[in-house]
Amino acid sequence: MVKTCNFCRGHSDYYYDEAQLKRCAGCQKVYYCSTQCQKADWVYHIFDCKPSRPINTADHLARAVFENLLPEHPQTCDDYGFSRAFTAEEKSNLLGLYIGLIKVIKIPPKTIHGWRIRGVLVDEIKATFYKIPERTRGGYFPWFLQNEHIISLAGQPLPEDTMHNHADEMMRSWPLSSANPARKEIVIICMPFSYPNGAHTRISTSGLTSDLHRADHRKKNGYCVLNTSN
Ligand SMILES: [Zn+2]
Ligand SMILES: [Zn+2]
Repeated sequence: MVKTCNFCRGHSDYYYDEAQLKRCAGCQKVYYCSTQCQKADWVYHIFDCKPSRPINTADHLARAVFENLLPEHPQTCDDYGFSRAFTAEEKSNLLGLYIGLIKVIKIPPKTIHGWRIRGVLVDEIKATFYKIPERTRGGYFPWFLQNEHIISLAGQPLPEDTMHNHADEMMRSWPLSSANPARKEIVIICMPFSYPNGAHTRISTSGLTSDLHRADHRKKNGYCVLNTSN
């Protein structure tokens, strides 16, 4: 196999020689052309390497931030509020807040993990953004100030009727374009992030009473389209 830098794959600004590639000391499996590349790759490579500490949900959050994707890891969604962000807008604002924190202000995942463990995540996020000039704080921080319950209540179970309310709201706000009535598909709010057993909240307006079969749900934008024909 051709040796290449695990981060820039040879496309860094400067030429490097294969002979100069240094092997990752953790796993001895991948190579880097420079310490910059090794550092930049760590947010991803930590999952394939042998890190000196256990991987935590802040690591999953950081990877999602750098991929510009909503986290999918269930415990991460619980720990950092994504399970309590119901609309696509709330989810994307929350991701935007963490992008500011991790990618722009460069707070390391292990610091964020420490904040959460000590129960000071909300306070520390505020303190961090207040330290930088107001004009550089962007739009996500003001949104967060008005919605801090999403993070402060993260990980706490949702009352059943709250979920139903949100389900009804979602039903109105999310067009059923991807569901197929001919195949008796309905859209349901899937709550795998809140409930490790994969519990679903059925949208009551459909009037369908068949049991939810975990196996045949298809994930779509964080929600599920469920085939109820059987
Ligand atoms: Zn490189
Ligand atoms: Zn490694």
